[in-house]
Amino acid sequence: MMTEPSVPEELLSALRKHQRVLIAAHTNPDPDAMGSCLALAWALRSIGADALVFNEDGLPERLRFLTLPGPVLSSLESLPCEPDLVACLDCGDRARLGEVLQPLLDRVPSVNIDHHLANPLFGTEANWVDPGMAATGEMIAMIAKALRSTLHGALAEALYVAISADTGNFSYGNTTAGALRMVAEMVEEGLDISLLREKMENNWSETRLRLWGRLMQDALILEEGRLAVSLITRDTLRECNATRDDTEGFVEQLRRLRGVRVALMLREEEKDGKVQTKASLRSSGKDNVRDVAAQFGGGGHRNAAGATLPLDAEKALTVMQPYIRFVWNRVK
Ligand code: 5GP
Ligand code: MN
Repeated sequence: MMTEPSVPEELLSALRKHQRVLIAAHTNPDPDAMGSCLALAWALRSIGADALVFNEDGLPERLRFLTLPGPVLSSLESLPCEPDLVACLDCGDRARLGEVLQPLLDRVPSVNIDHHLANPLFGTEANWVDPGMAATGEMIAMIAKALRSTLHGALAEALYVAISADTGNFSYGNTTAGALRMVAEMVEEGLDISLLREKMENNWSETRLRLWGRLMQDALILEEGRLAVSLITRDTLRECNATRDDTEGFVEQLRRLRGVRVALMLREEEKDGKVQTKASLRSSGKDNVRDVAAQFGGGGHRNAAGATLPLDAEKALTVMQPYIRFVWNRVK
């Protein structure tokens, strides 16, 4: 029998020792990033710490139904005081926390809790990085239990949102027995899964529905059916009256097509007056898309990865395509 992973003692002692803990995850937070932050804040508050959640992009619209342990702060000016610890969650590297937090990270101790491959262990006080974990949420569930929290109420809801999103509703290859056991425990403590699913999934705006229809129509099927691509220009979003948030999750649809080995969503954005493109890559099984993202300064997991390129969407496709070909060429 394999030994069960456990929370490193030095991480627990860092979390117990500090009173003012700022909890942050990557910018443009997905449900694992934000759910993990909220859950850790609940757990730390239960042991008397002043835990605050920070994200420079704030709380995403689609997670507004969650009960919060306090406001999600998005500027350093809004902090009531200097924290004595920053807990960095779900960030494959330090830059993922965003520009706003970088000066704070230079002067305040940090802990790094993450499940991405090749995390460079940037935490100054403790690092717990385990790519075998289904979600950062699974790790936070273990921390919460080690801090004697019961997995129920708002804490459990935040954890469920985190774990279910990163595992594709407990169906991707990263789904661990440990994550399923954590959810079983939450259900025993009264978690209403169907109510949460209703709030998370059956809650689309008409804009999102119409945008996805258009993106499905316009999808490019390349490389003899092995690569499905969605190019999302700023014009498309404008014409559909849609936002960046409305595109989240669409890349999973591209992977559903029979024969597709790599799904690629390329979304144009504007930053400081310049165009850039956010790439989201998905694959299955042994096909490794993290290596493609890493070529462009990004990262992630074997079957889900991302990067931001300083190019428009069409040019981003041109430069990425040769690296994507490599994905299936090296798997026997
Ligand atoms: P998504 O495509 O949903 O944005 O991200 C898929 C996975 O790749 C997530 O685990 C996410 O954290 C990671 N990821 C996305 N963009 C980047 C990036 O620019 N850098 C790194 N290191 N990881 C990323
Ligand atoms: Mn994650």
